[in-house]
Amino acid sequence: MRIIADNGDRFNRRWEEVAECCRQATGWLKPKSPATFKISDDFVERFGFDASGDRRQRSVVNGRAIMTERHTGGCLCGAVRFLTTARPGPVVGCHCSQCRRQTGLYYAAVNVPRPALSIEGAEAIRWYRSSEEAQRGFCGNCGSALFWQGDRSAEISIMAGAFDEPSGLAFGHHIYCADKGDFYEITDGLPQYAVNST
Ligand SMILES: [Zn+2]
Ligand SMILES: [Zn+2]
Repeated sequence: MRIIADNGDRFNRRWEEVAECCRQATGWLKPKSPATFKISDDFVERFGFDASGDRRQRSVVNGRAIMTERHTGGCLCGAVRFLTTARPGPVVGCHCSQCRRQTGLYYAAVNVPRPALSIEGAEAIRWYRSSEEAQRGFCGNCGSALFWQGDRSAEISIMAGAFDEPSGLAFGHHIYCADKGDFYEITDGLPQYAVNST
């Protein structure tokens, strides 16, 4: 069990606690197959997740009760499994040339705050520095593209297709459409941005 977010931010204590519980709750994060994934009763009891499949979790942040969500996923071979405990943003399709070459088509990913992502099997991840400002993480065993991490970003992008289903994700918009491959069209009617959406 490793946590990507370890930069000394204010979330660390909380996520160290989550990580320790994950270590103790054997088997909850690395199922025999994604289809049989179950979280342990201990994890449910300590963090309030509903074993019936309800993603919502009650948390207290700065004295206020908030609702968060849990989402799980992993690579094709299962060496890397992850858990997010924040509601992922909309699925964003990136049509830049880097994403095209890495995926064969285009990148479809969601952003979550880095402290909200915990990973089992992080040692299997290989990180490729694809630009001066970002790295791309993929499984060194099966090759599944998993993460995009900007050096100065407080969020991390996770490939939408890596999430277990039902994913609870929804497609939002497309970016870097000016660079998209010349062999397909974007026909879903969602917003298209020539470069970025901001
Ligand atoms: Zn893998
Ligand atoms: Zn891209």
